[in-house]
Amino acid sequence: MAAADPLLPAATTARQPNRLLAAIPPAEQNRLALDLTLVELAAKASLYDIDEPISHVYFPLDCVISVVADLDDETVVEVATVGAEGFAGLPAFLGATSSPHRAFCQVPGQALRLDVDVMHRFFAGDGVLHQLMLRYTQAVTVFLAQNVACNQLHTSEQRCARWLAQTHDRVGRDTFPLTQEFLGQMLGVRRATVSLSAQVLQQAGLIRYRRGLITVVDESGLHAAACSCYDVIRREFEKLP
Ligand SMILES: [Zn+2]
Repeated sequence: MAAADPLLPAATTARQPNRLLAAIPPAEQNRLALDLTLVELAAKASLYDIDEPISHVYFPLDCVISVVADLDDETVVEVATVGAEGFAGLPAFLGATSSPHRAFCQVPGQALRLDVDVMHRFFAGDGVLHQLMLRYTQAVTVFLAQNVACNQLHTSEQRCARWLAQTHDRVGRDTFPLTQEFLGQMLGVRRATVSLSAQVLQQAGLIRYRRGLITVVDESGLHAAACSCYDVIRREFEKLP
């Protein structure tokens, strides 16, 4: 599968920071700054493809990245989501050159891009960023394990509410674009099921869903409608800066 060029012309100012990059000391930030490129990621833009070389890691600012597994020709299931709390390109960080999963932009927005070779040279100096990325790796393993359990135990409404609440936390704004087709992939359910779940949440006054745009109307209500996995995962990521 050929990777589409993920890049639109770069914007000049960042709309919100990446939490990992914001937490490293100024001297280390300055050392890294020249190697980071601010990019605008379009919806569906590919970051890396199945068994293809991973050339860059991405630190999302206000975009959300999905890592997905293609179970067969028909079925795409989300493995994890990545936003401003972390980075996309975990396999490359851990030393792999490719992955059996693929990553693409789910909610469009900005990210900072870092060349993988440059990253490994940077870590030879062993700074704070290295430690933060290792801690983020731990949080992601909890995310993955929780997703496995969640998919077997919790209802599609609960999972839909959890996914929307998680995405809301990551993008830093109340309205974001999302198609039902994508949401179905994220949850691993049929489009009709997603449609029904979104309707239930909308009728409860928690979200508004119009022309591919989700608006979170009642944040605490959405959290209450989500399964317990929402808090388990959030607590893990709150251990990060
Ligand atoms: Zn759950």
